[in-house]
Amino acid sequence: MDTILVVNAGSSSLKFEVFSVADSLERLIKGQMEGIGTAPHLTVKSAGGERLANENHPPEAVPDLPAAMRLVGEWLRQRQQGRLVAVGHRVVHGGPNHSRPARINEELLRELEQYTPLAPLHQPNNLAPIRVLLERQPQLAQVACFDTAFHRGHDPMTDHYAIPAHYFDEGIRRYGFHGLSYEYVAGRLAEIAPDVGSGRVIVAHLGSGASMCALYKGLSVESTLGFTALDGLPMGTRCGQIDPGVLLYLLQQHGMTAPQLQDLLYKESGFKGLSGISNDVRDLLASDDAGARLALDHFVHRIGLNAGALVAALGGLDAFVFTAGVGENSAVMRARIAKKLGWLGASLDPARNEASELLVSSDDSKVALYVVPTDEELMIARHTFALIAA
Ligand code: ADP
Repeated sequence: MDTILVVNAGSSSLKFEVFSVADSLERLIKGQMEGIGTAPHLTVKSAGGERLANENHPPEAVPDLPAAMRLVGEWLRQRQQGRLVAVGHRVVHGGPNHSRPARINEELLRELEQYTPLAPLHQPNNLAPIRVLLERQPQLAQVACFDTAFHRGHDPMTDHYAIPAHYFDEGIRRYGFHGLSYEYVAGRLAEIAPDVGSGRVIVAHLGSGASMCALYKGLSVESTLGFTALDGLPMGTRCGQIDPGVLLYLLQQHGMTAPQLQDLLYKESGFKGLSGISNDVRDLLASDDAGARLALDHFVHRIGLNAGALVAALGGLDAFVFTAGVGENSAVMRARIAKKLGWLGASLDPARNEASELLVSSDDSKVALYVVPTDEELMIARHTFALIAA
């Protein structure tokens, strides 16, 4: 049996999944190493939910991502049957030129390292396991799947900022993210409702990172995220759209340094900053604190405003799709957001919404409302398989 390993490396965790490759891809296991450098903990489950590992490791044994990748590799070698034929990696930034996944070699890795300043909290972590595998198993096929790639088909006009044009050439432009999720959802929509999938659709990826994407005929034409993953909607700890004048004020009047500003915008803002309570929508929904209410009201308000902008980009709207943690799991938040879309003729069916059915709009809704669970890992496995098969 041939297998594909999918790796999604973050700042303190390394998530991985293994798929078998036969006529189709089948998920075998899902695992993660959390608490890297502090309290490393490895959990692995089979696709059916059976627990295969639940191990604590000493922090000195797993001080960083390369060590985590080595340990996970060792665990897989000892416990997993099958022949590993390729590894697919989630890489947040592919820069201006990569509109599809790419086979990794030393040259590509060096290019991707250059995009670290564009995604300082994600890119180095995404690349660390690639470096380890390239050094230890240079013959193993590795594929980089970019969160930016799906948006590279935009009309370049839309991706400009209105600053002197030479900055665009330097790479200061809107990239858009969550592309693997949008690509997966677009594919599912084409299967579930081909008529709708070929029309004008907004997909709202509402997780701890959040954005919305305008799809026309299944392709991205606009996104709420831009140069970095800070733009657009407020998120768990990220600010979303902000007047750049605020940043100038904080630099000049508060004497903030760039690292302090980075921390504020990426880690202390969004729901966490607004509520003063939590970055997790579940906590905010459970609280009757005024800060929690403010954070959720603001989130719904901004989703409504951004939806208006994306409807304008599309020239109308046929469907609105909820996905990711909040979008897939919270009937309450879906109801609040759907109400905001009422001016477009969208209307929710409460029973379908409560049951998280695929179609949650009422029969007379002018805009179809869907809940489509995303699967970025499967998308990475598909891309990886397609590239090595070619
Ligand atoms: P990530 O962006 O880290 O992949 P997810 O897409 O899994 O995250 O989304 C995680 C977020 O989804 C959590 O922070 C939480 O706010 C939210 N969430 C998950 N389940 C629920 C739920 N039942 N109700 C409301 N929010 C939820």
